[in-house]
Amino acid sequence: MGILVYCEFENGRPRKTAAELLQKAVALGAGPVSALVIGDGDTSSLGANGAATVYQVSSPVLGSYSTGAWVKALAAGVKASGATTVLAAASSVGRDAFPRLSARLGAGLGVEVTDLRNDGGKVVGRRPVYGGKALVDVVINSAVGLFTVRPNSFPVGAANGGAAAVVAVDAGLSDADVDVKVVETLAPASKSVDLTEADRIVAGGRSLKSKEQFDAVLRPLAAVAKATVGASRAAVDAGYAGHSEQVGQTGQVVNPTLYIALGISGAIQHLAGMRTSRVIVAVNKDAEAPIFQYATYGIVGDLFEVAPLLQKELEKLG
Ligand SMILES: Cc1cc2nc3c(=O)[nH]c(=O)nc-3n(C[C@H](O)[C@H](O)[C@H](O)COP(=O)(O)OP(=O)(O)OC[C@H]3O[C@@H](n4cnc5c(N)ncnc54)[C@H](O)[C@@H]3O)c2cc1C
Repeated sequence: MGILVYCEFENGRPRKTAAELLQKAVALGAGPVSALVIGDGDTSSLGANGAATVYQVSSPVLGSYSTGAWVKALAAGVKASGATTVLAAASSVGRDAFPRLSARLGAGLGVEVTDLRNDGGKVVGRRPVYGGKALVDVVINSAVGLFTVRPNSFPVGAANGGAAAVVAVDAGLSDADVDVKVVETLAPASKSVDLTEADRIVAGGRSLKSKEQFDAVLRPLAAVAKATVGASRAAVDAGYAGHSEQVGQTGQVVNPTLYIALGISGAIQHLAGMRTSRVIVAVNKDAEAPIFQYATYGIVGDLFEVAPLLQKELEKLG
């Protein structure tokens, strides 16, 4: 019965997706909501975000992510909770561990969902397919249903819940479960929020014409907008931005509240990575550019004139 949310941690604190999924789980009203934590960290906010119980798997082998150890810990947590629906973020961990968890538990898996609803007590997912051209409902018939949910699919409101009971789960982990040894962790060059979790993105295309102009025109606008930088593949191939910044079919799939596209034509492969963004602002000097068909707001103009104006206005907002 109920919904278990696997809550990812970073630097000892829950990631934003934990609050997002816990609050959505409560709103679904499909039974008690609990949280699953793997490793150590400050679990105090999980109750406030709606978890009645926190199941926590601790072990010295859970220092760095390793598929084998995590899947074993997840399986133990799911069994201990007795939940019939399990939610996780469609993050690198969710994408790696949940297909294996699905196989281990014999549980159906809906991946990359962007919406969830309670259909007569059963949780049903909705996900984009064919590069976002259609949406399908994912109904899981196995006893336990797993869903990975794209970050930013649901708003995060005030954390008004109480304290959660913490239950320690022994997953019987040992060194033999660690199939990957992490030898070094490198911090990303940019300190901005991960693209897949970013709430705001400012992305640029081939039209920026050089790395120097990408850095001089787009990055300062992104900084003022408190946004993460994205890029089209044309811009990445031309060396204006790093591959980790590419949005689209062969880059990152993003789901921000605000996506500002500067001089991006809106090729189908780019749209595949960003068309679920809540508000899309497109700046393009070609009024016929395909991106305008998907834009919430369109500005027909030269980005080299529009971007500094946008930046100036955003600076006024502080
Ligand atoms: C298998 C495959 C996978 C792919 N994967 C991806 C992917 O993951 N991500 C991705 O982005 N692409 C991907 N592509 C490439 C995709 O098809 C497009 O080529 C690419 O998205 C185009 O990038 P762009 O919009 O920056 O460039 P263009 O298509 O060249 O568009 C530039 C736009 O800028 C406008 N413009 C020019 N100058 C200015 C100016 N001064 N001010 C305002 N507007 C201006 C133009 O009107 C035009 O609309 C993939 C392609 C293939 C075949």
